[in-house]
Amino acid sequence: MSEKITEKVHLLIIGSGPAGYTAAIYAARANMKPVLYQGIQPGGQLTITTEVENYPGYPDGIQGPEMMVNFEKQAVRMGADIRYGMATKVDFSSQPYKVEIDEENWIEADAVIISTGASAKWLGLESEQRLNGFGVSACAVCDGFFFRGKEVAIVGAGDTAAEEALYLAKLCTHVHMIVRRDTMRASKVMQDRVIKTPNITIYWNSETEEILGEHKVEGVRIKNVITNNTQDVAIGGFFVAIGHKPNSDIFKDFIDMDETGYIKTIPGTSKTNLEGVFAAGDVQDKNYRQAVTAAGSGCMAALDAERYLSTKQ
Ligand code: NDP
Repeated sequence: MSEKITEKVHLLIIGSGPAGYTAAIYAARANMKPVLYQGIQPGGQLTITTEVENYPGYPDGIQGPEMMVNFEKQAVRMGADIRYGMATKVDFSSQPYKVEIDEENWIEADAVIISTGASAKWLGLESEQRLNGFGVSACAVCDGFFFRGKEVAIVGAGDTAAEEALYLAKLCTHVHMIVRRDTMRASKVMQDRVIKTPNITIYWNSETEEILGEHKVEGVRIKNVITNNTQDVAIGGFFVAIGHKPNSDIFKDFIDMDETGYIKTIPGTSKTNLEGVFAAGDVQDKNYRQAVTAAGSGCMAALDAERYLSTKQ
């Protein structure tokens, strides 16, 4: 690689969700002079949710985008250097580590925290995009509460879909679960629970043709792919649970990952296979994926980075 280095920083944080900002707050307070690049969606996934009611410290709840503005303000107040820009390539083959920003400048860093998050996968329907945030959601734990006492639909058949269908069944009058094959990918125990829950109806061999509603979700058109029959079902909320994709592509030549691209960390730490490179938040967590767990792991990454950098001086 022919990298033209334009800057050298002590600690580089890539990504601006709860993990990245929390790492920046801790690192700035510890005088590590962190530089954080926000990526294409400053604030991360929380900026596309509405109200957050399960983040401790906000007794009346808070809007997701507002919460992320607060995270950013706190990081800035502590002295973190927050910049708009996207990490587009890395060269971790030798130290100091090198990161390309916006396909232009290369920055060198003594330590790097990867907190690039994950992105929910979507079906790709026009109605899904149009009604996103108006009844369409990719997170039942975040948004299910707003549909209590209503009928909802969920698409997907993995462990997440099964877990979220069960979660929704406790809040909602009925859950319509749309499964594209005649079998579910979810673990047997989760499938059994779903099948035995009286207020969950499974639509096998079915796909979502359209989410109905002009300004908010009012129904879903479900198509059976064997018979080609369609039916409209009245619902107030539509949940997509067809998996997440960790935003880890640019690191794959250097950082150990599982087969789906989640970065592997040494259990109980934020350490990756490379010394001085740490990972926090959803990019290394396929299980919990909550703002509060991401923030906690961002704190861990900053503390791990601090210990690492202090041994190098
Ligand atoms: P998965 O990739 O396991 O499952 C995705 C599901 O979505 C599959 O059933 C798939 O169908 C379906 N799907 C994908 N694309 C479409 C589409 N375009 N239209 C309709 N359906 C679609 O993702 P999960 O998020 O469920 O799980 C990710 C990982 O996390 C897994 O390893 C899982 O076991 C784990 N996990 C574990 C939990 C636990 O142990 N408590 C909880 C949550 C997740 P198909 O089967 O036909 O491909």
